[in-house]
Amino acid sequence: MANRIRRLPEESVRQIAAGEVVERPASAVKELLENALDAGASSITLEIETGGKTLIRVSDDGCGMTEADARLALENHTTSKISSFSDLDRLSTFGFRGEALPSLAAISKLTLTTRTQDSNTAIQIRAEGPKIIETKGCGRSPGTTVEVRDLFFNVPARLKFMRSDASEKTRILKTFEEIAAAHPEITFELRAEGRKAQTFPARQNGLARVRELWSGEFSQSSFLPLSFRHPKLSITGWISGPSEHRPSKNYQLLYVNRRPIFSRSLNHALYEACRDSLPVGRHPAAVMFLEIEPSEVDVNAHPSKREVKFRNEGQVYECLVKEIRLKRSRLAVSPRALDMPFELPAAVRTPSFSFDERQQAPARSTASSTQVETRPKTLARTLCQLESIYIVAEKEGGLVIVDQHAASERVVYERLLSQFRSGGKLPAQPLLIPYLWNVSLEHAEALRAHLPELENLGMIFEEFGERTFRLMEAPAGLNENDVQSMLDEILVSLETDKNPQIFSERQIIRTACHSAVRAGERLANSELDK
Ligand code: ADP
Ligand code: MG
Repeated sequence: MANRIRRLPEESVRQIAAGEVVERPASAVKELLENALDAGASSITLEIETGGKTLIRVSDDGCGMTEADARLALENHTTSKISSFSDLDRLSTFGFRGEALPSLAAISKLTLTTRTQDSNTAIQIRAEGPKIIETKGCGRSPGTTVEVRDLFFNVPARLKFMRSDASEKTRILKTFEEIAAAHPEITFELRAEGRKAQTFPARQNGLARVRELWSGEFSQSSFLPLSFRHPKLSITGWISGPSEHRPSKNYQLLYVNRRPIFSRSLNHALYEACRDSLPVGRHPAAVMFLEIEPSEVDVNAHPSKREVKFRNEGQVYECLVKEIRLKRSRLAVSPRALDMPFELPAAVRTPSFSFDERQQAPARSTASSTQVETRPKTLARTLCQLESIYIVAEKEGGLVIVDQHAASERVVYERLLSQFRSGGKLPAQPLLIPYLWNVSLEHAEALRAHLPELENLGMIFEEFGERTFRLMEAPAGLNENDVQSMLDEILVSLETDKNPQIFSERQIIRTACHSAVRAGERLANSELDK
């Protein structure tokens, strides 16, 4: 029998659409918490059971809704936050599409209880996939409670894709943490399986909230405040000091206008700014708040997509890198290293090492950020490597502490740049196994246009399908583990460095970085001499 085209029942269409807005329990939690924030709540409680699968309940003491508004809110595309398309540009609230409540109602058993600040009674509406089945008056203090039971009970396809309770719970906690970190002035409470799990009292200061969230993880002095202010862009928050790094990316939060977001380019900026003192496989901790004119950001207009783009991506990138570097450079030499007695343990002594003329140049040229000179009473001529991060040398009766990564990078950089400027191709080395690289169609097109420049820089690609490239040769000396980071950085450059000269020089900077000695690497005497 031939298949006939049939129109899907309206209810199925609605459930499919709702499943796109609410992908999993954590996305429901995010929508409900954001509604509570938009309602001006000063206290918000989140309750969950079985990883949010059977119960998610968010209660707030915000503005509440009238009965008419509450009924309307459960209908598709009703929102109190915009009234026309042109409002979209000026939006400062979290939601605006009017999709969350109706979507949740379509795919769960939802109860909305709400009371406005100047009403005497609350009203309770029960909806089920998505019909309103009961409305009644009840008692409640002003504010709103939305209870979502049995999420996806009528969408078996989604139900199948849910992870274990523990894994859904982890995602919910991450969402909760992201929102609580950005709103220290609001009291948050979390209850799981009927028990109080965490309470975060209202705080004046965001650092206090972050410390509570990551309690015990960081010492008092390990966060450096960020404070870049410009009428068009402000950056505040905290960045970990150069000696505080973590084995995972778990301690990184990034917000734009207090909304947790992901940005490939800003994530890259964070690592770019920290790389001088970041050992391989370690990650900085950071809580970064960017405030920017809403019309300068494209939030992608899809509620569950977190990736944002900036109108002036390159400028935002540069500002973030500079601000982080500035704050970290004040601590460029770890306080622990400076506290160390000059008499060093025998194990790290390398008496044969010395700087000659040639090697002093890089040390001087990094003076602004990484060189510390002191005049100890005596100074043995012991020159060594400190904590596998710094090289200690004696100079004119003073002690010079050089960041080994910065110094090595500088040497490589100067060499590559002069080779490049004098018109030469940078040396490449064939890869034993070519590296396959898949990129988006958009990037593929931009990349094709840059293949000749990249070839001059020692990166030789072969096209391998519409959006796949094979890296056949890489710059000589590149650390093998850094190939993927290097490629990621090229993508950022394609977007930010439109000028071909800047594009090429940026790749040289990165090649130097990825070819240089790392912080955390133990160096043999012969390498110290280089
Ligand atoms: P959006 O947030 O995109 O407007 P929602 O479906 O999340 O859409 O909510 C619809 C409307 O319901 C909101 O615009 C708001 O007026 C109202 N609303 C939702 N949650 C709350 C709440 N916790 N307190 C007060 N009003 C709320
Ligand atoms: Mg909303």
